[in-house]
Amino acid sequence: MPPVYLDHAATTQVDESVLAAMLPAFREAFGNPASRGHAIGRRASKAVDDARFAVATLIGARSMRDILFTSGATEANNLALSGLLRPGAHLITARTEHKSVLDTALHLTQHGVTVTVLDVQPDGRVDPAAVAAALRPETALVSLMLVNNETGARHPIEAISPIVQQAGVPLHVDGTQAVGQLPVEVQTMGIDLLSLSGHKLYGPMGVGALYIRREVRRHLVPMLRGGAQEGGTRAGTLNVPGIVGLGAACQLATDVLPATEPQIRHLRQRLWAGLKPLGRVHRQGPTDEAALAPGILNVAFEGADRSAVLPRIPELAVSGGSACTEGSLAISHVLDAMGVSAERAKTVIRFSLGRHTTAEAIDFTIDRMTAAVQAVRQSDSRHRDASPRSR
Ligand code: PMP
Repeated sequence: MPPVYLDHAATTQVDESVLAAMLPAFREAFGNPASRGHAIGRRASKAVDDARFAVATLIGARSMRDILFTSGATEANNLALSGLLRPGAHLITARTEHKSVLDTALHLTQHGVTVTVLDVQPDGRVDPAAVAAALRPETALVSLMLVNNETGARHPIEAISPIVQQAGVPLHVDGTQAVGQLPVEVQTMGIDLLSLSGHKLYGPMGVGALYIRREVRRHLVPMLRGGAQEGGTRAGTLNVPGIVGLGAACQLATDVLPATEPQIRHLRQRLWAGLKPLGRVHRQGPTDEAALAPGILNVAFEGADRSAVLPRIPELAVSGGSACTEGSLAISHVLDAMGVSAERAKTVIRFSLGRHTTAEAIDFTIDRMTAAVQAVRQSDSRHRDASPRSR
């Protein structure tokens, strides 16, 4: 069995068709898209326009002009918050958001912005009533993710957006773990700003986008200055090959999503069904399919610390939580917000499936996880029996 990659929430492999689409951007369309005075520059500019159109199409934007290219979702999240929140403004967000939202919000509190960080329900979802209760006359932005990167919990954005809209407040959604994984339609869902990232949808790293509705964009203050690129909203020479790759990945997602979403959902259910017989396993996040991303399964294996289990399965690529916080010893802020104890958090493994995950890979994972967890539990209990303190 070749290595089994179940860490798609950390990153996805660049699709071959995406790579093939990117190569001409290095070889033939290598010009600066701002150099419209010659054909090579215009070729690059056309490639960027095509990619912008593909991104807009995937997320149901009204116009491709509402798409702003960035270096990834971290930058898109930073720009959404820093670009719209002025001193005196109020932001509503939630405890389980990505750190690129939470740390930016914290930074803005030093610049006169007040922030309400909402608690989540035990399944990791925000209650729309809590958003309604937190709104104030000075609220200038609500920022909530669509899908959580650790648990796959999907906030009820469709129920939240009318509340926010009625208050006349823009809604920013971090769609990094959702775009390309499940249908996202900014207009029908009432989303004013949406962050997305190339490397989560089989495109390259280091490129992403911020969708921003024209009426909201007028108020956005740039973070990067010094050039007229992206209408002056984001200065800097465009990453043409990256943008072309993101466009190709979005085009591919538009084509394959109707088939891949149910297929991945089904495999995730198969994985959970196969792990349950182990006993003393607990799932973090919602159980209702409508409230879940297709590919993420977060499981605590009671009595078996991840640090003892994973070295027994070197062929398996999974993680404990988000890649961004992997190295830190602190309990994940997401699990903490959901009331998961530090002891349980140490036993949590996040499995995240992708388009190329097979039933064989899932069955292999079930077998190897079962053996490894049982072995760790047994050696732990032997250890306890032998220890004088436990007598
Ligand atoms: N938001 C979420 C929910 C994410 O999962 C990630 C990536 N881990 C990001 C933002 C940051 O994306 P990027 O890697 O493109 O900066």
